[in-house]
Amino acid sequence: MSVGPPALRSPQGIKLDEHAVDGELTLQQCSACQTVQYPPRELCRHCLGDELNWSAVSRGGDLLAYSELQHSLEPFFQEQLPWRLASVKLDCGPVVLARLTASCPPGNIRLEVSHAIQAGSSILQASPANTVNAVNKA
Ligand SMILES: [Zn+2]
Repeated sequence: MSVGPPALRSPQGIKLDEHAVDGELTLQQCSACQTVQYPPRELCRHCLGDELNWSAVSRGGDLLAYSELQHSLEPFFQEQLPWRLASVKLDCGPVVLARLTASCPPGNIRLEVSHAIQAGSSILQASPANTVNAVNKA
């Protein structure tokens, strides 16, 4: 039996799920200074502005580091181990943690990050930039 990702979300995490579009990347953007931020917050991390919009942003980024989880207490993750977790510096600014859909060789790796909707919740997933269309969305 397949289960979804952990459902417990912060109020801002719930808003992220509401604005997530499968295959796209939608993040908060400050209307005053245009800073894109992740994770979502109530105020802009740069200017403390409180007018934050949800915008489709560039999905490209550079792999900073990744690790493979071999164990988890969450049934969702247990079904999909090993779970590759990547730290990605997005071209639009923030660093995000995302599920890495393929193993990557060492070196400078370009990735594309997008939402993947699973059981009503959004996760971020990252794929090598030239294989995004070949990824099987689990
Ligand atoms: Zn701002």
